[in-house]
Amino acid sequence: MRRIAIVGAGQAGLQLGLGLLGAGYEVTLVAERRPEEVRGGRVTSTQLMFGPALRIERDAGLALWDDTAPVMPAFELSHWEPEGQPDVPPRRFTAPFDREVRSVDQRVKLSAWLELFEERGGRAEYRSVGPADVASVAAAHDLTVLATGRGELSALFEPDTSWPAHDGPPRSLACFYVNGVAHDTADPAAGYVRNTGVPPTGDVIMMRALTVGGPCDILLIEGKWGGAYDCWADRPGAGDGLRRALELLRAYAPWEYERFRRAEPTDAGAALYGAITPAVRRPVARVDGDRRVLGLADAVAVHDPVTGQGANNAARAAASYLDSILRRGDLPFDEEWMRGAFDTYWASARHTHAFTDLVLREPQPEHVGRIMETAFDRPEVAHRFANGYADPPTYRDWLMDPDGADAYLAGFGR
Ligand SMILES: Cc1cc2nc3c(=O)[nH]c(=O)nc-3n(C[C@H](O)[C@H](O)[C@H](O)COP(=O)(O)OP(=O)(O)OC[C@H]3O[C@@H](n4cnc5c(N)ncnc54)[C@H](O)[C@@H]3O)c2cc1C
Repeated sequence: MRRIAIVGAGQAGLQLGLGLLGAGYEVTLVAERRPEEVRGGRVTSTQLMFGPALRIERDAGLALWDDTAPVMPAFELSHWEPEGQPDVPPRRFTAPFDREVRSVDQRVKLSAWLELFEERGGRAEYRSVGPADVASVAAAHDLTVLATGRGELSALFEPDTSWPAHDGPPRSLACFYVNGVAHDTADPAAGYVRNTGVPPTGDVIMMRALTVGGPCDILLIEGKWGGAYDCWADRPGAGDGLRRALELLRAYAPWEYERFRRAEPTDAGAALYGAITPAVRRPVARVDGDRRVLGLADAVAVHDPVTGQGANNAARAAASYLDSILRRGDLPFDEEWMRGAFDTYWASARHTHAFTDLVLREPQPEHVGRIMETAFDRPEVAHRFANGYADPPTYRDWLMDPDGADAYLAGFGR
């Protein structure tokens, strides 16, 4: 039986591990925390997942929250300039999602998947693997996959210099899981994914989710450096942080403040602060003379969460690697095969990475501004934009291509 080691029990590592177990492989998964520590710990993401990624989980028998996780039926985008043009009302569009969109707190999902992994006969080792330990893990297995997210082991993978290098994170991040948001039936938008953008300040993204205590709401503040949303250096506790976030809503998205004014943190671990420097790395690292390890998902390609793509990518990457491993049969998992496994995944995921880069570019390319302006007036443009999140390569021919944008907008007289 072929023996495979996976280091890192996140979305990608667990999904791959469970898939390999189901296919009869002997799998060792190295996890830093036990299920109960994950469940009782701090939130790690907003993990908004779109139809295709949810479908991957469902096909793998891992969609365990279909009856309990709220479905968000539409996307609302608002744009307001309270400092420059306070008297001009916010611009806004709403577009229905064609396929389901949900968020299951990774504390709920990953702790349950880890338990399932052990119940199904997987071997879990609870420890942190240091850079010097990777070689001994690799020596004991036919294939070693590093699915360690933004952890220190990604430094083993060389940067891919064909992608722009980022000196630092494009945004500051603050995230709060809350109860007590107004959800009366007269306000269906309360159940949407909503993004309010304020030019010099940043974005606030709101969504429904399922957390450890049941359904909740999430507030993700994506702050531009030096703007009013960039105010989390002191890492306040969940209660103090949320009070500060509500004051920001009162100033920069008062309609959201009305919904959130009675919000309370869901639990002691309900707040997360940080910042992510985007990076694309070479997928194969040499760890001991001739031994190679393969990087998976965020360990080798990571970006800011403003477009909600990292967990979706992780699901796709794990499914793609699983397929590559199964196809390999009894042949060795050599470097050429590793590169091929990554390239198969990256052929599509590269467009997701480029999409996120585009959204965060300052200033925005002129054609993107024109598309968004048109979306505020034309529901079909808003619909196409909103549903592209589920499958970002579909942006390639219009949002990400100035000529394609011209051709598309010409149909709307722009
Ligand atoms: C604030 C925020 C909001 C986000 N919102 C979204 C969203 O709405 N939609 C979306 O799709 N994505 C979102 N993301 C991104 C998404 O959470 C990640 O891209 C995704 O979880 C990556 O999965 P992964 O398995 O690659 O890594 P991770 O989920 O980071 O898992 C890595 C695992 O490896 C473990 N590990 C690390 N180092 C070691 C080591 N040395 N030894 C052993 N174990 C180790 C860690 O403990 C962790 O369990 C968001 C991220 C953030 C920070």
